[in-house]
Parts: sequence; structure tokens; C-alpha cells
Amino acid sequence: MDLLNQTPQELAGMMRELGQPAYRGAQVFDWLHKGARSAGEMTNLPKALREALQFTPPTVVERQVSRDKTEKLLFRLEDGQTVEAVLMHYQTGKTICVSTQVGCRQGCAFCASTIGGMARDLTAGEILGQVLHCGTPVDRVVLMGIGEPLENFDATTRFLSLINDPAGRNMSLRNVTVSTCGLVPRILELSELRLPVTLSVSLHAPDNETRDLLMPINRKYPVEELIHSCEIYFDKTCRRMTYEYVMIDAINDTLGHARALGLLLKGRPAHVNLIPLNAVAGRESFRPSPAPAVERFAAALSAKGVSTTVRRRLGSDIQAACGQLRRERLAL
Ligand code: SAH
Repeated sequence: MDLLNQTPQELAGMMRELGQPAYRGAQVFDWLHKGARSAGEMTNLPKALREALQFTPPTVVERQVSRDKTEKLLFRLEDGQTVEAVLMHYQTGKTICVSTQVGCRQGCAFCASTIGGMARDLTAGEILGQVLHCGTPVDRVVLMGIGEPLENFDATTRFLSLINDPAGRNMSLRNVTVSTCGLVPRILELSELRLPVTLSVSLHAPDNETRDLLMPINRKYPVEELIHSCEIYFDKTCRRMTYEYVMIDAINDTLGHARALGLLLKGRPAHVNLIPLNAVAGRESFRPSPAPAVERFAAALSAKGVSTTVRRRLGSDIQAACGQLRRERLAL
């Protein structure tokens, strides 16, 4: 049973079917969201019910700790598939980066998650399970692990309502970020829900010529359409957009690219995160931009009035940094 996937109402219905009063659903929801790993722990339930409820939440089968204390967790799911999640310790609190699919089919040329293709979507319960069973309470969640959250739209939005549920973790959606490679129709669909979720778009190039080289999705939804959908997202949610920009040596890091990006985003409510490319085995033809190129790029954007930061490279020594997560364990 994927109990973690259920809303309180659905659990109440399930209890009635099991011949139990509906309030048992609220009790089970409470236990699940407090991190119970089996029904045996749910001591206020009658024994027969505890025996009837079988579930296996995602389990950490391996934990690697980086020099900077970032932790990479390998979760095993009920059917034996595995995904990675990353726990980051900031002064302002803990952030967990979770996966939304087993593998990824988007095919971005610089990313490890796409190697080996996609096996299946995660359920909302499996996304939530990574948060509940990472070993510590967290302050923020980013859906930036393996997979494309907006391709797995229903599970992603169900996860948002589960994590936000007042009877569970009650996490403000302001503390949740959904990252996308740019599925325009799904960005529009998400905007209709008017949730206060930060949307982070993996842009990586200001023009179609460069973006086509890096991200197959751009042939379907080119830059102009993508930026337009982000404008609509901002109009509906009032959440400032975040754009991710992986800096790749001599591919997308010239001053010309910086100026074009500045022009594209100038005057828009947006923040740009520059991410020096992280090394990916099997993707050696791409190299990270040298530090001076990153600084020059950031300065050119700031000069256009675009808010810009350079992302710290957390966890790269254990292959836990952006773009280094994958389905299969990599022998280090
Ligand atoms: N599919 C979603 C969620 C994955 S988020 C998305 O594309 O946004 C992972 C982030 O890491 C994305 O911004 C992705 O483009 C970035 N990334 C991928 N490979 C990378 C690499 N080698 N170095 C740095 N960042 C990378």
C-alpha cells in the first residue's frame, strides 16, 4: 500500500472500507507524517488494523557525506528502484533536494540524470517519503533531483498539497521550489493553481541556437515561449522567477551570451543563479567555465540590473551537486 500517497480524506475512506471509524484516517496520517516506518509503531490503533496496514516507505540504503557536510542519500523504493536525494545544511536551515522520477527522459546534454533513460514516475508518496525519511526535519524542499517534476505533474502537485497539509508537516509552499527544464503547457497549468511555489527554470542559454544544442526540449518550446509562460506564472502567483544557468566553457558563457540574457530578463521580476558546470562522467566534452568567465558574466548581468548569484558547488566531491544525480549507483 502506498499509504504516504494518500490525503487525510482518502485515508478516512480507506479506514471505512476496513470497517473502521473514519477518524482512524487522521490518526494514520498523523503517524505517517511524523515519520512512522511501519504500522506497528502506530500504538493508538487497534491491533487488527495495525496488522492490516502494510507499507514500505522509501528507505535510505546508502549515505555519503561530502567535505562541506552535504549528504547524498540513496533511497530504495518499494519495487526495488532507487533514486538519490541531497541534504544541504545552510546557516539558515536545512534544504532537501528530492527526485521526482526514476531517471529522466529530457536528454539535456550536460546532465547525468538522463543517462540510462527513465524507468518510471515517482508517486507523490515516494516524493514525500524522501522528505520524511531523510533522517532530520528540513526547512525547505527543492524538486531539483532526478527527473522532470512537471512531466510528473499530478504527483508533483499532490506532493505539494501533502507537504502543505496542516495535519502533517504544514510546510509553507513558500519554502518549496519546483524546477523545470521548460515544459510550457505545464508551467501554464501550474500557474492556474496560483500556489506560492517558487518556479525555477533551467534556462542555460538566452537564444534558441545555443539552447537547442543543450536541451532537446527547446525545439518544442523555444526561449520566447518559455519566457512568456514565466511572465504568466509571475502574474498569477506573484512569485519572482528563478532562472538556472549552468556555465559551460565556450558554449554559453561569452559576454555576448551575458548581454543577450541581460536583455531578455531586463526589467522582469527574475533572479539568475549561475552554476559552474559540475563534472559528469560520460559528458567530458563539456567543461566548466573558468572562474573569471563566471565573474565577468555575473557582472554583465548585474550591469543590466538583473539580480544574479553564483551558486556554491555543494557536494561535488561525492557526485551530489547539480546535474550529478543518477538512477544507478556510480562506482566512485
Ligand atoms: N528537470 C528539472 C529538475 C532537475 S534540476 C530541471 O531541468 O530543472 C537540476 C538542475 O541542475 C537543473 O537546473 C539542471 O539543468 C542542472 N544541471 C544539470 N546538469 C548539470 C551539471 N552538469 N552541472 C551543473 N548543473 C547541472
